[in-house]
Amino acid sequence: MTTKYIFVTGGVVSSLGKGIVAASLGKLLQSRGYNVTIQKLDPYINIDPGTLNPYEHGECYVTVDGCETDLDLGHYERFLNVPTTRANNVTTGRIYQSVIDKERKGDYLGKTVQVVPHITDEIKRNIKLLGAENKFDFVITEIGGTVGDIESLPFIESVRQLRWELGKDCLCIHLTYVPYIAAAKEYKTKPTQHSVKQLQEFGIQPDMLVLRTEHELKPDLLHKVALFCNVAEDSVIQSVDRPTIYEVPLVLQRQKMDEIILHKVGLAADKPSDMKRWENFLAMKSSAVESVKIGLVGKYVELQDAYKSIDESLLLAAIYNHRKLDLHLIHSEKVNDTNAATLLQDMDGLVIAPGFGQRGIEGKFSAIKYARENDVPCFGICLGMQCMVIEFARNVLGLTDANSTEIAADTPYNVIDLMDEQKNITNMGGTMRLGAYDCHLKQGSKAYAAYGKADIQERHRHRFEFNNAYKARMEQAGMACVGENPETNLVEVVELPDKKWFVGVQYHPEYNSTVVTPNPLFISFIKAAVKAEH
Ligand code: GLN
Repeated sequence: MTTKYIFVTGGVVSSLGKGIVAASLGKLLQSRGYNVTIQKLDPYINIDPGTLNPYEHGECYVTVDGCETDLDLGHYERFLNVPTTRANNVTTGRIYQSVIDKERKGDYLGKTVQVVPHITDEIKRNIKLLGAENKFDFVITEIGGTVGDIESLPFIESVRQLRWELGKDCLCIHLTYVPYIAAAKEYKTKPTQHSVKQLQEFGIQPDMLVLRTEHELKPDLLHKVALFCNVAEDSVIQSVDRPTIYEVPLVLQRQKMDEIILHKVGLAADKPSDMKRWENFLAMKSSAVESVKIGLVGKYVELQDAYKSIDESLLLAAIYNHRKLDLHLIHSEKVNDTNAATLLQDMDGLVIAPGFGQRGIEGKFSAIKYARENDVPCFGICLGMQCMVIEFARNVLGLTDANSTEIAADTPYNVIDLMDEQKNITNMGGTMRLGAYDCHLKQGSKAYAAYGKADIQERHRHRFEFNNAYKARMEQAGMACVGENPETNLVEVVELPDKKWFVGVQYHPEYNSTVVTPNPLFISFIKAAVKAEH
């Protein structure tokens, strides 16, 4: 079958959840046996979000092939259970970079290089790239930003051209917001009408509208939107706020979104939809009564999206342990040796977050010391693992002022240090140790027991490493190095075997945890936390 291209645009306001709508539609089509991939086009000039501060952008998600990408790709993977790659996230910066590279090589043969057609051609090439190998029946492309933004115009223009070129193989879904005006006791559709008008001015007639709303909208209001926006009545769908994003596919399925889409691209909706595993997960979620209390110690706790994949991985793991997740975000700058017991005593388990730089790091050491001394299940991820190593070196080995050279370049005990191949790097973008690497786990370790096998692959995003010069001393003192990269011998997993569950991983297991296959290490951590419960 020819690949079908579906675009998801957004109007009225940002943060409406285009990523969730795209992922939910993808899930519904996948449940009917189609191969689906989802792509995000981001209108900013950065080549990728790798160098962006989490305050600007939330979490940076890493693909198996080592691309630093938008956090929506995390939703796509958690929903579809299919890995994404570099091709699934393209920014304006990357588009321009490649056009400018071609121009310098002389590829444009003396022509003036312009937004239309050169930039739009490059955008279209990147969209079609995913469909090119015939691997996917559907490529769903989410256009970042809101229709009408100056910076997303070339993307919208590319969608217009593709619809013209691809005919029935291409659809546009527009997501808008219907606000409730309390004083008038009315829902207002005018912003939706304006937003669709704007899209029409750019030459795009949406095939389907998804109206985001806080409460159920009445059919007459949906009819009115259909009438004013030139959209078929059955194609105006509502997405009412739900307590969990994982219910959205079912909300859309009840309104036959997938059937309508299939019909529009000329496919019969004759393959039955199999959402059993998804429904089982939701059933498990709603039957969980007791909760497990997890403290996430990090410096970005005021930011909803900074630890998105960790939050979601903890939630999934809690549900698979038949618990509700009671997540407490603990500001690492506020924790010290004096108050750690008071702040952390109610937690069943602690996660020490990844991160960069000095701010809040001493609080992470205090939290780890508290967990180690009081045998609270503790899970260190990336910088969190490095902090576990530093805390152990300082307080157990007695190496006062041990540190990572990232934090203190002149530390007398560089238990965490820069990898040799990182030493001469000056460019910050895309130069960390990124993507999936092999790791060999020792039998008898907690990590081995969790994964149920010795050879695993997990994704990385860091420059600094456990310094093997200290390995023997660490192991003698009781910190076991139980996971190693088989080629480089870099230490990937450390544990304190005499504790209930004290595991640090140099990699990011949170990037590899989906609704139907949650990451085993998270499952094992939550299980230990449930067991240790107060
Ligand atoms: N800052 C640390 C490093 O670069 C850890 C990075 C992380 O936690 N992702 O090695």
